[in-house]
Amino acid sequence: MSARCRSGRHEMTPANTRVEQWGGRQVRRCRACRAASWQRGSRPSLYEITADRRVQRALPVAMQVVGAVRDMDRDAVAELVEGADWPALLIALAAMVPDDQSPAQLLAWREERSAA
Ligand SMILES: [Zn+2]
Repeated sequence: MSARCRSGRHEMTPANTRVEQWGGRQVRRCRACRAASWQRGSRPSLYEITADRRVQRALPVAMQVVGAVRDMDRDAVAELVEGADWPALLIALAAMVPDDQSPAQLLAWREERSAA
């Protein structure tokens, strides 16, 4: 077995594999990449995080959650998030929220919805 890490630079041997719990799922991470990122004194940039394949995969579900929440469809939301990759879904949703508006402004659609 000679699986490579995500960067392709290292072998994912048992000794080089760190198992982390992420949102109830086990994620296998490359220790060499982790050590290299610490040595650089850097965390992954937000660009790297939002370009992550897990986040990209979560985008369609994130958009469906946005629609279901606006439709006030509790069952649809529950169905969509069941078994979701929570960290990836959270980052996808957060990355899509405009950060130049107050929570009241961002939630104004609810007033419009209830007034309708
Ligand atoms: Zn690696």
